[in-house]
Amino acid sequence: MEEVFRKAYGKVNLGLDVVGRRPDGYHLVRMVMQTVDVSDDIVVRRGSAGSGLTLSCDNPEVPADERNLAWKAAVLVCRKYGIEPSFSISITKRIPAAAGMAGGSTDGAAVILALNELLELNMTEQEMDEIALSLGADVPFCLRQGTYLAEGIGEKLTKLPDLAPCSMVIVKPPFGVSTPWAYKALDEYLEAVPENGTVHPDIDLLRKALDRKDVSDIAAHMGNILEAVVTREYPEILDIKKRLIDKGAVKALMSGSGPTVFGIFTDDKAAQEAFLCFEGGRYGKFKVEF
Ligand code: ATP
Repeated sequence: MEEVFRKAYGKVNLGLDVVGRRPDGYHLVRMVMQTVDVSDDIVVRRGSAGSGLTLSCDNPEVPADERNLAWKAAVLVCRKYGIEPSFSISITKRIPAAAGMAGGSTDGAAVILALNELLELNMTEQEMDEIALSLGADVPFCLRQGTYLAEGIGEKLTKLPDLAPCSMVIVKPPFGVSTPWAYKALDEYLEAVPENGTVHPDIDLLRKALDRKDVSDIAAHMGNILEAVVTREYPEILDIKKRLIDKGAVKALMSGSGPTVFGIFTDDKAAQEAFLCFEGGRYGKFKVEF
């Protein structure tokens, strides 16, 4: 085998709560993660011995060097198995960058899976998860697909029932949000506001609604604790939410640390109309079905 091709899927958060902080500063989360059919293409090719690692990416906003999570993933795999890296990685981006859709994390996860196949490493799930977690909190989830509860710092994953049938419109405004900035802003907010003054999404009720496969009930319990702090700085996110609701979404929510917003629709025609109302030149937009 000379090359491996993988689709690297993005995600949205149906729920995101921060429940504490470890002494080392990592946030303890409870997140309901949902794979969405918006994907990057990853090709990992064998090079000649000693050719080193090279990476190309068609999106100039994304670093095509050792800062790229795909690159970092390859280095970690090679280090663990004592392999001299001689590969080229090529990334075709479709997932918007710095969007709250795990664009970098999923490329990193795809490279772990691709190298396992290309080099016939027979890695166990646990070995892959360990490398994934050292890359980032969302990466273990990105090794999988579907609907998962992620707890701890993202490493404790529980499979949940698939999202009930619905349409989703995903809209990314023309700016990015830094994930470290969003968590820092949340920390400052939580320090200033007493715990009983903050609105934590009820992740347990969201889980129960997913079990019942009732879209309206799922929508009613979706929530993201980062949304209030991020939208104070980026009010356009609220504008997108309103437009999605006005077009018939049963719920519109910011994903991850933003700025991407997704709307859940029970009526596919309304979803199509909502999709069309966002100007393609200004917004990144996707419509997916479940
Ligand atoms: P998350 O939802 O996991 O917080 P995100 O979607 O907000 O992630 P990314 O798309 O992963 O954010 O991008 C965050 C930063 O990571 C980018 O600004 C970019 O510089 C860097 N990055 C590193 N590797 C990649 C990659 N393969 N694709 C996109 N961004 C990458």
